[in-house]
Amino acid sequence: MKTHVRVLVIGGGVVGVSTLFHLTKKGWTDVALIERTELTAGSTWHAAGLLPLFNMSYTVGQLHKYSVDLYKRLPAETGQDVSFHVTGNLRLATCSERMDEYQKYCGTANTIGVPFEVIAPARVKELWPLIELGGSADTPAIIGALYHPHDGHIAPADLTMALRKGARAAGAEIYEHTEALGFERTASGEWRVRTSKGEILAEHLVLATGNHARQTGRLLGLNIPAIPVEHQYIVYDESPELKAYRAGGGRELAVLRESDKSYYLREERMGWILGPYEHGAPARFADGVPEWFGRSLFPGDLDRLVPHVEAATRRVPALEHCGIKDIINGPISYAPDGSPLIGPAWGVRNVWLNEGHSFGITAAGGAGWQLAEWIVEGEPGIDMLAVDPRRFGAYTSKRYVVQKNEETYRNVFTIHFPDEERPEARPAKTSAVYDRLDAKGAVWGQRYGWERANWFAPPGVERKDRWSFRRSNYFEHVGNEARLMRGRVGVIDLTPFTKHEVTGPGAEAWLDGLVANKVPAKTGRMALSHALTRRGGIRSEFTITKIAEQHYYVVSAGAAERYDSDYLFKSLPADGSVGLRNITNTRGCFVLAGPKSREVLAQLTDTPLDNTSFPWLTAQVIEAGLAVDVYALRVNFVGALGWELHFPIEYAHHLFDALFAAGKAHGIGMVGMRAMESLRLEKSYRMWGSDMTPDYTPFEAGLDRFVRMNKGPFIGREALEKQLASGVPNRFVTLEVHGVTDADPLGNEPLFEPGGRMIGRATSGYYGHCLRKSLAIGYARTDRSQPGTQLEIEILGERKSATVLRESPYDPDNLDLRA
Ligand SMILES: Cc1cc2nc3c(=O)[nH]c(=O)nc-3n(C[C@H](O)[C@H](O)[C@H](O)COP(=O)(O)OP(=O)(O)OC[C@H]3O[C@@H](n4cnc5c(N)ncnc54)[C@H](O)[C@@H]3O)c2cc1C
Repeated sequence: MKTHVRVLVIGGGVVGVSTLFHLTKKGWTDVALIERTELTAGSTWHAAGLLPLFNMSYTVGQLHKYSVDLYKRLPAETGQDVSFHVTGNLRLATCSERMDEYQKYCGTANTIGVPFEVIAPARVKELWPLIELGGSADTPAIIGALYHPHDGHIAPADLTMALRKGARAAGAEIYEHTEALGFERTASGEWRVRTSKGEILAEHLVLATGNHARQTGRLLGLNIPAIPVEHQYIVYDESPELKAYRAGGGRELAVLRESDKSYYLREERMGWILGPYEHGAPARFADGVPEWFGRSLFPGDLDRLVPHVEAATRRVPALEHCGIKDIINGPISYAPDGSPLIGPAWGVRNVWLNEGHSFGITAAGGAGWQLAEWIVEGEPGIDMLAVDPRRFGAYTSKRYVVQKNEETYRNVFTIHFPDEERPEARPAKTSAVYDRLDAKGAVWGQRYGWERANWFAPPGVERKDRWSFRRSNYFEHVGNEARLMRGRVGVIDLTPFTKHEVTGPGAEAWLDGLVANKVPAKTGRMALSHALTRRGGIRSEFTITKIAEQHYYVVSAGAAERYDSDYLFKSLPADGSVGLRNITNTRGCFVLAGPKSREVLAQLTDTPLDNTSFPWLTAQVIEAGLAVDVYALRVNFVGALGWELHFPIEYAHHLFDALFAAGKAHGIGMVGMRAMESLRLEKSYRMWGSDMTPDYTPFEAGLDRFVRMNKGPFIGREALEKQLASGVPNRFVTLEVHGVTDADPLGNEPLFEPGGRMIGRATSGYYGHCLRKSLAIGYARTDRSQPGTQLEIEILGERKSATVLRESPYDPDNLDLRA
């Protein structure tokens, strides 16, 4: 066994071996993998081997696409067959919301180049002659389907062996029966790994330990939010009907998914495999995998299977005539949102996670590809925010993960509405004024563990969403909130903002090297600043305010807390010249905005608020009511006269009550997240994570005014220089979408030349309630981005015409903000 490697991968399931394979592809061949028992002994050996391309996530969709393409060429590349049956896969729809879901997915699929067809029932029958099209209460009529002709199923163990062969041929080493038992960081920054066979020193560690993720994490002080859930499938004996169909020349049937009954069905040796996603499947191993659980399974639970077996038998009567050969019930790893954890671990250096895979056979190729790129190049090649392990924070307690993972599992096949808010593990994190907002009719959602008011139900209106891909029950109320903000004065509770304090003699220079904008040099000034990747993409957005000499207040997206904090802490200079504190939970934030906001705030403070004393884009530390040390920032995300008040958390109740008392005469009211979305789209304000991602540079994002190319070095500058020299390929656009009656764009819709080719994608969309226009923002090819250009956007399968508008269709000259 080697005693020193560049990268040590821990875990020999398909995901670990794929990571090893891809590291060698990137030219890193001094790499090894250790496996505590044998390759594939975790979840990989018993997986059903399905490779669904379908995924609602832009990122995960790209990973799956890469995998399916790779697996097709792997046999030629490695000389090892992987039994890839390209059967295609068919997802049935029996209700119109399901068709909406498929159509929404098709938009994403178009933007990442996944081929698909939306087909009618007659074509379903043609592709799948053994199916009943239905039409009764217990077997509803199929109204259409989504068909992917190019995916299918694979033999997971063969796939792992092909990846192993490729990795070893390139020089990687694999040590089976070698367990990682402990990790220690050496003075030189390497990792000393204690294994059951001796010690190995490694520059980088990759954890790909599947069901053991929590145990492995614990050895490094990491609370990894991955806990497996039981997942079963039934293996049937030979089916006479299937045999007859195949004997008559029928080709292997596509993998079938009846989403509305939550099961999949595929052929297996002239019989079937039926896999449901049942209600009541329990999470397992929350405290670790017991020693006795090796290449093991759980006993089958027929009770949970029965409703799905019955539904499938009604849909495919051939199932009735075959006996059950086996029930496989194994642990399937999950993270709370159902997407894997791929990327750097937080708080420790050179530790990488490839954990939490619930579709690990499908994802392994893409996950290995991007993680290897990240390790070798320092950055992934595509936007990986949706799978970055740091999208979760310290709130992922054991109970939280158990409840969420069980919920995610049972919802695999439910319709993924864009406004869906699932109920488990809530409320968990609440702002100090939660009860006050609740009393005002808040209809809650959850993000990063925080309860956030999506909208406020007026008295007499049911406090409930009817989730939809179209305008729904809250539309009118959201509109009223937006109009309140533009017309009078409203309050948004943005306490979840991520907040850091940066102090010390090196603070300014350090921040300046991290972001593309100039860090403010004068106290009371602020700058919207973007931290870039080395490729010039946007990694973070920070509002940096100079509070005092050597004292900066840095605010970023609430959901970016661990992601940004980890980056900032890991980037600190070693000389101790910069102090950094995450003060997210010590300050609350209320946005007070609208034309009457100055009059409201003036009743609480003696600080002059006129334009000369307190201009737009400046900040002051003020007293407000009885509250002291309130950072008042004259900015906001809604484009109105107003202030963000960042106050010591102990003043939350007082300040909230004082604002409402002072605002009563002006008709002050609460404004929720959905109205904020409408208001910010009217101003073309980009949202981190959807409109600003590592896929686009600030020039593409139209953020040129926040980039100071001549200020000195900053991360990403060289890439920006290159892009300026070669030409900026895409440009940010704001679109008015015409002819929308009930389905506004929501993001991830493809943009086309009229009647022609795809030239971009929308990244967000909403109804602009004050402008009374359906709006989208996104990226279009530069030559198609000028105001006035006519484009088309595909919304739920329908092409709509759209016009590129001048940026900030509401108040383009920012007169409200400067009022
Ligand atoms: C019944 C069932 C059906 C499934 N069907 C499908 C499907 O059709 N399609 C699909 O995409 N996915 C499917 N899955 C999911 C799929 O099996 C997993 O996502 C995938 O196998 C995960 O691979 P992995 O490499 O992450 O983990 P594993 O395969 O679990 O590998 C982790 C490895 O790490 C090793 N290890 C752990 N700790 C240590 C340590 N300290 N030192 C050394 N080694 C260690 C373990 O021994 C194990 O071999 C299914 C799962 C189940 C349960």
